[in-house]
Amino acid sequence: MKNYSYKYDCIVIGGGPSGMIAAGRAAELGAHVLLLEKNKQLGKKLLLTGGGRCNITNAIFDVREFLNCFPQSKEFLFSPFSKFSVKDTFDFFEKRGLPLITEAQKRVFPKTEDSKDVLQVLENYMKQGRVEVRRNIKVTSFRKNDNGAIVSIRTSNDEEIPARNFILATGGNAAPETGSTGDGLEFLEKLDHTISKPNPNIVPLRSDTKWVHALSGTTLSFMTIRFKQKDKTRVKKTGKVLFTHFGLSGPLILNSAYEVKKLLEKGKVEASIDMFPDTEENELDRRVWRLFEKNKNKQLKNILHEILQKNLAEEFLKFPDIVTPDREVNSITKVERKALVKKMKNMTLSIIGTMGFDRAVITDGGVILEEVAFKNMSSKIHPNLYLLGDILNINRPSGGFSLQMCWTTGWVAGTDIGEKSAAKHS
Ligand SMILES: Cc1cc2nc3c(=O)[nH]c(=O)nc-3n(C[C@H](O)[C@H](O)[C@H](O)COP(=O)(O)OP(=O)(O)OC[C@H]3O[C@@H](n4cnc5c(N)ncnc54)[C@H](O)[C@@H]3O)c2cc1C
Repeated sequence: MKNYSYKYDCIVIGGGPSGMIAAGRAAELGAHVLLLEKNKQLGKKLLLTGGGRCNITNAIFDVREFLNCFPQSKEFLFSPFSKFSVKDTFDFFEKRGLPLITEAQKRVFPKTEDSKDVLQVLENYMKQGRVEVRRNIKVTSFRKNDNGAIVSIRTSNDEEIPARNFILATGGNAAPETGSTGDGLEFLEKLDHTISKPNPNIVPLRSDTKWVHALSGTTLSFMTIRFKQKDKTRVKKTGKVLFTHFGLSGPLILNSAYEVKKLLEKGKVEASIDMFPDTEENELDRRVWRLFEKNKNKQLKNILHEILQKNLAEEFLKFPDIVTPDREVNSITKVERKALVKKMKNMTLSIIGTMGFDRAVITDGGVILEEVAFKNMSSKIHPNLYLLGDILNINRPSGGFSLQMCWTTGWVAGTDIGEKSAAKHS
């Protein structure tokens, strides 16, 4: 059996947010840490977050309330969040010279509105702890000893590097161009872990309905969408929707993707958009009637934009079951007008799937939570292996919840390794 001499207390694989904070924290407590990143730059995905502004957390300070946004995993997350919470994230960044501001829906951003500054804080943190950072190095495999304990990793330049502990922070599969290509999940399968199959999540929805494609680029700032199966409303959301050349997008849609995907697994999904969610059908009918009274001799196509956005009105009038656009409104019967109003509150489209990982914000899937010891984020199968961030099978909405999960799991793992290592060195 090979006899290893350990230069490193810990090797962190992956220089994303969870890996960087873990590396910095372990080093701060005295561990000798090596971080390996396959890109030439750290935090490539972090730089994209929040449209480049980095929605760093969500300002729900009560841990239980915060974890209500993680319905399937809150029981697991309670322990790490009781050690590093949203308040700790504020303290961590603000004490390091990066003030945070809270915006609508409690989304928190750096005051500078620049994700580069978040990366800079993490890089400085690692530098202060003397973390050795090596870029352009891809980890290709893990090596176990005869007892099954992990002893080293191999890299793309065929180097074998031993260490006492390993942190796998390689992310999931979302936005693969940033380096998150699911490598960690493959390693974990080989290390006897159980992986829930990765699927794109927080992702736009695809539709094959023509009027939706025709409205590409249009935003409806206030509508209700109902996702239906077998004529029954299963999911209902109110807010903003963005039409695209492939279907629907925008935060509300992205945050509906998980539930819609579950429906799609069971069968066909239809959606219905109500363009006037706070107006009853009768009231809307009176509004349309008043519009018609005011413009008796005009053609429908020339007045509808007074209550519908112009391009929406144009598409709306192409529906075959609507009166023809060039009809003078004085010729439109009460029954026809009521049908028109009904349609405004029930524009139907079909949902045929989600977009792929290249458009996804997070991965639905990853290592199953029962195999992780959440008190320190270690693997229950390999106690010297730690699992962080997107690699975990944790679903959550957009709004800063993903990065908070990275800060928390990274900090807790770093603390555990740091404390263990400090005890060894003293
Ligand atoms: C467009 C977009 C916007 C987002 N905006 C927000 C937001 O505003 N707020 C929020 O909370 N969340 C946001 N997210 C989600 C958030 O970015 C992720 O949850 C977070 O980056 C996950 O961090 P991580 O450390 O687990 O992994 P990642 O950030 O995925 O980092 C993993 C790193 O590991 C490296 N790596 C992978 N395999 C290897 C290997 N074999 N060897 C060496 N290195 C390897 C990768 O190159 C990568 O740098 C957004 C995601 C996307 C795609």
